[in-house]
Amino acid sequence: MDKLQYAAELISASKNLMVLTGAGMSTESGLKDFRSKDGLASGTYEGYYPEEILSRGFFYHNTALFYQYLKEKLNVSGYSPNKGHQILAEWEKKREMTIITQNIDSFHQKAGSIHVIEVHGTLAECTCLKCRMEKPLSLVLKEGYTCPCGGIYKPNIVLYDEEVTEISRAFSVARAGDLLMVLGTSLKVYPAASIPEIYGINHKRGIIINRDETLYSHHYNVTEINDGIGASLQKIERKKKKIESSRDIDQTTQVLDKEE
Ligand SMILES: [Zn+2]
Repeated sequence: MDKLQYAAELISASKNLMVLTGAGMSTESGLKDFRSKDGLASGTYEGYYPEEILSRGFFYHNTALFYQYLKEKLNVSGYSPNKGHQILAEWEKKREMTIITQNIDSFHQKAGSIHVIEVHGTLAECTCLKCRMEKPLSLVLKEGYTCPCGGIYKPNIVLYDEEVTEISRAFSVARAGDLLMVLGTSLKVYPAASIPEIYGINHKRGIIINRDETLYSHHYNVTEINDGIGASLQKIERKKKKIESSRDIDQTTQVLDKEE
């Protein structure tokens, strides 16, 4: 069977869909992939490697430069969710669904998704380390990172030397899923890379859409599509609608049969 058709049937039948998204989801919105060959992590900034800048120690000792880096390299203002994000948000209206994302752009929520676990946090908001007041990053960049209380604002992202606190919640949610869909990640970076195993890929189905082949491309339970996410999801969505409308007709006929 055609892979897209099979994916559409699996999604249509799913009652608790788990979606794991990575950088590839956002690059289709025009954002740069941090880890790709000519991505953000490949060069230095003011003599520092990005992994160094995005660490807790650097944040405390070089706060101004840290924020300058965010403003110039990681700022997502001017970019918006793409067709892929919108289709996922639509799917959530019909079934239980959770998105586990490695992205920090909050595009899933902007597109309308509700159950989203951001394992690496979000760049959208900052929190004052002293009084815990929250403020959007856009305002912190405009008005400065000092809070009226005297504390400093830190973006709600997980820095390189910090613990990924949301991962245990992500794991328990992943275990409960009846279908796993992986979008835009080659599943090489832990802890998100362990999600297929935790979910139970050896006894439940999975769909992967990623430009490059992943470790799971030949797994017996995995249908892998090596293509763009937005384009693939649009094709799947069309097929899914066909499946669901023919199922609705079947159900109507059944009801009519009973009434006779
Ligand atoms: Zn404060």
